[in-house]
Amino acid sequence: MVQFVGVHTIIDLVRTKGPESFLSGLVTYIEQDFRRWEAFEKSARLASHSHDGVIELMPTSDGELYAFKYVNGHPNNTRDGLLTVTAFGVLADVRTGYPLLLSEMTIATALRTAATSALAAKYLARKDSRTMALIGLGAQAEFQALAFKAVLGVKNLRVYDVDPAATRKFVANLAGSGFMIVAADSVADAVRGADIVTTATAAKSRAAVITPEMVVPGVHFNAIGGDCPGKTEIDSDALRRMQVFVEFSPQTRIEGEIQQLDADAPVTELWRVIAGKASGRVKPSDVTLFDSVGFAIEDYSTLRYLRDVMNASGLERTLDLVPHLDNPKDLFGLIANGRSPAAPGDRDRIALSRVA
Ligand code: NAD
Repeated sequence: MVQFVGVHTIIDLVRTKGPESFLSGLVTYIEQDFRRWEAFEKSARLASHSHDGVIELMPTSDGELYAFKYVNGHPNNTRDGLLTVTAFGVLADVRTGYPLLLSEMTIATALRTAATSALAAKYLARKDSRTMALIGLGAQAEFQALAFKAVLGVKNLRVYDVDPAATRKFVANLAGSGFMIVAADSVADAVRGADIVTTATAAKSRAAVITPEMVVPGVHFNAIGGDCPGKTEIDSDALRRMQVFVEFSPQTRIEGEIQQLDADAPVTELWRVIAGKASGRVKPSDVTLFDSVGFAIEDYSTLRYLRDVMNASGLERTLDLVPHLDNPKDLFGLIANGRSPAAPGDRDRIALSRVA
């Protein structure tokens, strides 16, 4: 039996721990895996681009566990009542190749993107950062806000979205979560006085949400919405004023804000800062950018975390995704006999898998 984290299970897991505590735990797992970055197989993700969006596969392995995620990005989907980003992922045993866990990763991606953003800011933002501007208040936004509160203690938010309904949704969702939220009239109004600026907009275009006059000393930028060729959020002149930190540079040079810069423009991989091999912010006046596109190791960490949290919770669910055979050479026997022998321990789990 393969363990299964469906939408209902992840909701239960996050609610049981509390979103901020769940995010803090996830930050720890991602940080542990970034520290051992060199142990992982790494490649830029495989992207299939179409007129309306992209579908991507994101694999990695540390030699013991293998993980991959399927994820899409379709900025126009919300007009049809669909999510911009959906995902699912698998964790597998490298020794046997057997899948161990199949998980929904739409919610998990929002959690891991926010956890990675907050982890980057822990190393790159000024320690006294308390106010964050958040531009783009769609599906990712509340997760970002809660991760920055959990990890950095950011409680003051200055928020803006071109869609007033998105702003209302954001404010309503975070009511009672301990934030002071100011709804700004424009991007320029939102970023005024902010220590951290997060951009989470979605448009399949070279957008310039952040312009040069918004780049003032001491600010940390966390740009998560520019994550595909031809899809950026920061004006190129503004970008040239920032010290850039990335996940996996061969992937970010294709997909991130830095696709606008020369191919050899200097950037630092975040794992090097976390592992103490490179400096992050040196002076309070530095302007730093985490040019986030999302990397496979973050999904690996998330699947590893979900498995541990689920196993500790008593909310375990399983799926009969792989046949169990008394004779592994007799696969056709399953068809001939019309049923699979129960794997050890399956009988207890079958009832659960039916409701998962
Ligand atoms: P979404 O479509 O739910 O929300 C995007 C929001 O941005 C919408 O509310 C929209 O009205 C707003 N917006 C668009 N242009 C704007 C502008 N110029 N100014 C202000 N607001 C604007 O999308 P989402 O799921 O929240 O994702 C946000 C972005 O993050 C997407 O581009 C997505 O591809 C990206 N993303 C990146 C990662 C990563 O790891 N870096 C992970 C997940 C999603």
